Amino acid sequence: MRIEKLTKRTTIFTIFEACEGFDLHIQLIEGKHRNYVIDTGLGSKSLEPILTYLKDSEKELIVINTHHHYDHIWGNLCFKNHTIIGHRKILEAIDNDWQRATTLFIEWKQGEIEKVYPNLVFDDCVSFVDDGIEIFYAPGHAGCDIAIYDAVDQTLNVGDNIGDTPENLVPDLTCDVDTYKASLARYETYKVRHVISGHNCIMDASVFQKIRQALSNE
Ligand SMILES: [Zn+2]
Repeated sequence: MRIEKLTKRTTIFTIFEACEGFDLHIQLIEGKHRNYVIDTGLGSKSLEPILTYLKDSEKELIVINTHHHYDHIWGNLCFKNHTIIGHRKILEAIDNDWQRATTLFIEWKQGEIEKVYPNLVFDDCVSFVDDGIEIFYAPGHAGCDIAIYDAVDQTLNVGDNIGDTPENLVPDLTCDVDTYKASLARYETYKVRHVISGHNCIMDASVFQKIRQALSNE
């Protein structure tokens, strides 16, 4: 595990070769009023370093699932008493995928896992205005994908809407390409210094143009 302070408010917890050989990033944003953990990794053990890091914090902890895939939700059981945010479509998606994921990918689990759903869902966007946090729907990779923008530090977490390696910027898509391109366009309406994704390295906003280019070459 690597713990990297990326900006004043953002710390990235990276689990190396966490799932199917890919690294996995969990972002912590320490807002003025609340802390935000983005994605919960592969089970209870994935969260231990973050919970240790936050043990003296008295701020409310908000948890966000960028999409329903196993490597982003299996640790939800650690946050049963917290607000867990996801897109409305994630509820059905978790249900439909649980059996498959716990069969196919069980070797990647870290500690305990349990099916725990987000308890606060939204359709288009939701904001924590006093913390400068905006969470919005941007489908592409999984269909229930959301992005998290921190207006103070200008970070944007796009979940797995960027491919898993620097050589593969275009993710696997369940949505059609035009829907994904609309999500890219939405990202580009924000002023962004750091783009964070589930598995790739941290990039700047020029990645969206590179993805568009790669799409047009396909
Ligand atoms: Zn992932």
